[in-house]
Amino acid sequence: MKFDFSRIKRTVDVAKLRDATVVVIGNGGAVDLIANLGRSGVTKFKLLDKDIVTDANLCRQGFEQADIGRPKAEAVADRLRRINPEVEVTTLICDFCEMTDEDIDREFGDADLFIFATDHFPAQARGNQVALRLQKPALWLGMYADGVGGEVVFWHPGIDACYRCLVEKRFLAHELAKATGQSLDPPSDGCTIFDIGFLDAIAGPLAIGLLTRGSDSRYGKLIGALGDRNFIQTQIDPDWTINGRRVVREKLGVPDACKEFFAWNTIARTDPESGFKVCPDCEQFRGDAAVPFFHGMPIRMPGKRPATQN
Ligand SMILES: [Zn+2]
Repeated sequence: MKFDFSRIKRTVDVAKLRDATVVVIGNGGAVDLIANLGRSGVTKFKLLDKDIVTDANLCRQGFEQADIGRPKAEAVADRLRRINPEVEVTTLICDFCEMTDEDIDREFGDADLFIFATDHFPAQARGNQVALRLQKPALWLGMYADGVGGEVVFWHPGIDACYRCLVEKRFLAHELAKATGQSLDPPSDGCTIFDIGFLDAIAGPLAIGLLTRGSDSRYGKLIGALGDRNFIQTQIDPDWTINGRRVVREKLGVPDACKEFFAWNTIARTDPESGFKVCPDCEQFRGDAAVPFFHGMPIRMPGKRPATQN
């Protein structure tokens, strides 16, 4: 059976995608994203999810009645095969956080892109270490509570700020919560398939952009166009605020008097926490040689943490 990509070839470097292996950690919320990457020309997938499809998943994840009771990764793999029989899919039904570095090297050493589509913070955090250690491009998707907004973070070895550098305060908050036996993972109730789809529409082109970076195609130029603005944030609910601030309106410079401003706006930020600080993961896995400068500043004096600029 043939798969004809002629209608998207100006936008997507399909030939380059064909050789790429995409690893997706967390498959439930990413069913449609994975399927649409398959439609766009990705043919090699490694899907990891420890969960089974339940009847509560159908209202917002792209599963069907026949999938109930099956591992999510296998249900998604079958959907991919129905779309394009040429796809090569490997499924792993396990907990990413329980994999050792050796397991990860064996299973994912050939990855060209990691996608962390999980709202479980420990998996996102481990993902950052894996991406840095293996020097592999990665993408993190995160919906905010109730689906009022979301974020997509991307990283590749040419970018200074890793996921943890960008949201170090979040890492500290999670560590603090863990020490007292709590979890700060956002509750996913309230987030609909439309909210997830909105984030997918941003994450999909970024994924293809990372895989075909430098190609003379629209998506091949995307990552270069973004440069170090690797924290993408999107407003879905018109009333969404962070700590009382209407961040998107603020960043876009839209005055309160502008009544046309509504929702579904996206901003690309360089450093949301204004940290200008090298995170512990970068110190551990990249070192001074890998990151000679950070946002134009020397990272540190020998033996010292860099100065924080707030
Ligand atoms: Zn870092």
